[in-house]
Amino acid sequence: MGCSPVSLGTFPTPVEPAPRLAAALGLGPEDLWIKRDDLTGPGGGGNKIRKLEWTVGAALAEGADTLVTTGAPQSNHARLTAAAAARLGLSAVLVLRGAPGTSRSGNLALDGLFGARLAWAGDVDRAGLDAAAAEVCGRLRAGGARPALIPFGGSGVPGARGYVRCGEELDEQVPRLRTVVVALGSGGTMAGLVAALGTDAVLGVDVGALADPAAAVVEFAAPLTTQQVTAEGLRVRRDQVGAGYATLTGPASEALRLAARAEGLVLDPVYTGRALAGLRAAVADGDIRPGERTVFVHTGGLPGLFGHPDAVAFAEEGATAFEG
Ligand SMILES: *Cc1c(COP(=O)(O)O)cnc(C)c1O
Repeated sequence: MGCSPVSLGTFPTPVEPAPRLAAALGLGPEDLWIKRDDLTGPGGGGNKIRKLEWTVGAALAEGADTLVTTGAPQSNHARLTAAAAARLGLSAVLVLRGAPGTSRSGNLALDGLFGARLAWAGDVDRAGLDAAAAEVCGRLRAGGARPALIPFGGSGVPGARGYVRCGEELDEQVPRLRTVVVALGSGGTMAGLVAALGTDAVLGVDVGALADPAAAVVEFAAPLTTQQVTAEGLRVRRDQVGAGYATLTGPASEALRLAARAEGLVLDPVYTGRALAGLRAAVADGDIRPGERTVFVHTGGLPGLFGHPDAVAFAEEGATAFEG
């Protein structure tokens, strides 16, 4: 389908130096740059805005009046789908895994604030979540609405186009770029970057959202580039998943502290914390070296820090009394 995107965000997003964080990671002061895709614009910002420009563009072209999507209770994608709907005068129904009252993610507060309706799917796998979303679409249609289903994480070939554009921005903003480090969830973000910059230039840090994330990246990237994209050719780290997607791992917790104290930069427990921990591990094992230019993509996710059960530990650290 030849579709055009709808404008939701403010682009290009800035690229900022991070000399103190670079030093803390064992890199030179000019080696590390942050692509501020947490500053894409509406709804609290984040990477999902770039993908939604394309997926919602397609929904509008089909005449949709209601956006339906799926995710975990802490889903940034669900929150930003709700924001996009509000921004464009559409309705949103979010089909979420789990049961009401079991998560306190800041994203859920924003979902409610944006006026989205929630449909809880129970403790289901991906297929169960997709089935619940299909049922919600059927009920909406029966009630006279025109729903459009936005895929899990907004990822697919259309959504990945949003990250081709991010890759093009980086090409202009950062000369002699060697590696772009990004969290790998549903795959569309890494796929677009790979299509724009090549497999060698992108290091994806898996967060544990999919059983086979490399396959998803290949599926979404291949149609967008003339280069060969194979799962074996991708740079993917799977050493940061820990006890699973929603948990705050030890290395991610250290990464959050590091970025916050070195640069005043706030990362999130699920995605960007893991991505920086993966960058740190890549420096430690020589995959990323001093003297090479590295970009860390800050993909957003801040609302997921608020209400995260493990984040109270930071509050307790902060409560250290000043003793003069
Ligand atoms: C969804 C998300 C990602 C991962 O993007 P995918 O395209 O799903 O791989 C990274 N960071 C944040 C904050 C996200 O919400």
